[in-house]
Amino acid sequence: MAPDYDRMRAAMVEAQIRRRGIRDPRVLDALARVPRHEFVPANLQAMAYDDTPLPIGGGQTISQPYMVALMTEALGLRGGEKVLEVGTGSGYQAAVLAELGCRVISVERDPELAAQAARRLERLGYDVQVVVGDGTLGVPEEAPFQAILVTAGAPRVPPSLEAQLDPQGGVLVIPVGDRGVQELLRLTRRGNRVLREDLGGCRFVPLVGKEGW
Ligand code: SAM
Repeated sequence: MAPDYDRMRAAMVEAQIRRRGIRDPRVLDALARVPRHEFVPANLQAMAYDDTPLPIGGGQTISQPYMVALMTEALGLRGGEKVLEVGTGSGYQAAVLAELGCRVISVERDPELAAQAARRLERLGYDVQVVVGDGTLGVPEEAPFQAILVTAGAPRVPPSLEAQLDPQGGVLVIPVGDRGVQELLRLTRRGNRVLREDLGGCRFVPLVGKEGW
């Protein structure tokens, strides 16, 4: 019998997301809708709703569901924003952002992962523009962004990404630290001022690029 993914997803949202303090109903709804099992390799589908990151090939991972929810909530999206994601990976986070009614541009440095994610997102009906390249440099021709989400760990905040934030309240969420452990930072830009907040510890694969590792 096929696993009941709808039931597994609802249980994930309740136990791993809502009970851990994620309150934004739009974020909870988005996680309840995106079929996460479609974003993991076939042999790991039974684990798709477990409380853990999972391997997706190329030495990369799809992030833990709670981390996706925490980062998404931290962006404070209301719908209609232009959002840049750095690190498409499986495309799952991009699908969550698209569910929130944002225009999503997602950059991935690994061409094979990017192609797989683009095909998957299209098949599932998500309107996401997947770009192959070094996301540490952002996508200057599409800037400014109301939100930028980096889903790999950086040694420092890439200046190009900070510069591509909308000066009227653009928000950048990014893990910054060493190659193993990072702090999740939120930067909010108002004019030339940037407010920096620390949202807690996290573990991401390295952000590799000109303004990364
Ligand atoms: N957001 C993804 C998802 O929902 O499946 C998970 C991202 S995974 C933790 C990190 C991804 O960042 C990897 O796919 C990796 O290839 C990518 N990456 C690392 N450095 C990058 C860079 N400079 N530009 C774009 N992508 C990068």
